[in-house]
Amino acid sequence: MLDAAQTSQDTVLSVEGLTVHYPVRKGMLGRQVQYVHAADDVSFTLRRGETLGLVGESGCGKSTVGRSILRLVEPTRGKILLGDTDITHLERGEMRAHRQNLQAIFQDPYSSLNQRMRAFDLVAEPLRNFGRPVTREIIADLFRQVGLRRDQMDNFPHQFSGGQRQRLVIAKALGLQPEIIVCDEAVSALDVSVQAQVINLLTKLQREHGIALLFVAHDLAVVEHISHRIAVMYLGQIVELAEKRSLFAQPRHPYTRALLDAVPVPDPKRRLEAGRIIPGDVPSPLNPPAGCRFHTRCPLAFDRCRKEAPVLKQVAAEHQAACHLNDAA
Ligand code: SF4
Repeated sequence: MLDAAQTSQDTVLSVEGLTVHYPVRKGMLGRQVQYVHAADDVSFTLRRGETLGLVGESGCGKSTVGRSILRLVEPTRGKILLGDTDITHLERGEMRAHRQNLQAIFQDPYSSLNQRMRAFDLVAEPLRNFGRPVTREIIADLFRQVGLRRDQMDNFPHQFSGGQRQRLVIAKALGLQPEIIVCDEAVSALDVSVQAQVINLLTKLQREHGIALLFVAHDLAVVEHISHRIAVMYLGQIVELAEKRSLFAQPRHPYTRALLDAVPVPDPKRRLEAGRIIPGDVPSPLNPPAGCRFHTRCPLAFDRCRKEAPVLKQVAAEHQAACHLNDAA
């Protein structure tokens, strides 16, 4: 359920009940089909000019959600709306017009850049694809905006550092003046100091251009820096969604509390991957536990948790959580 504040005119993206189940074949001759529950009933909105962090352990479904929005993954159920347009099942050709508005930055800039193209042409490519004007001045301005030099326009990707290559990818995405950029682990492959520079750049560009960012990451410390609101995912579901300060000051889900405990600030060299200190393994997404999916690892689980799945509910202003403990509060 989306709350009233979230359905305002400022909403540029709405995800409603997004469910993605992947079939996997098992048994003799692969006749038995089971389903990986990659995402289950995921709902949220993204507002103009805001950053929503989507965080959780690896395999929690956050990248599946990002890729579904980009139409790289076919949803099993649910809806994805860009503004008022339902893009959930658009064909490739129909989706093309919306691509200008919806750009992506992935983890590995090396593989997302054609190594045989010069930086100028890489940044110009999306503009040319959409029939937009391309001049050296236009491309130089994009270089300037992302902190690259004009004299680097004729270099090849291998002549840039990792952080500079990610800046190139950002320039490429920025050229089309999108309303939304999905950043899928966009800084995870970079050194900590370079991560901070790229995050600062994204924040600056967001302020200047009013872009909405969906920032998918496993590292809560990284998400904290860039996000206005944060959605925490566990085993395919959003378990908490809140304004950043509220989430950090008063987490209302035991999993979020555990993630926060796993962030050893302020020494970034000691930063842990989210969730590593949470005891127990993440259950198989082929067969998620009944009741609350977190009950097999939750230190506060009680009888009801094993039988009844908690739903995501409003627990404070700009704060939703899915935990039975909030009913007693
Ligand atoms: Fe833990 Fe129960 Fe809350 Fe789930 S519903 S997070 S098991 S207390």
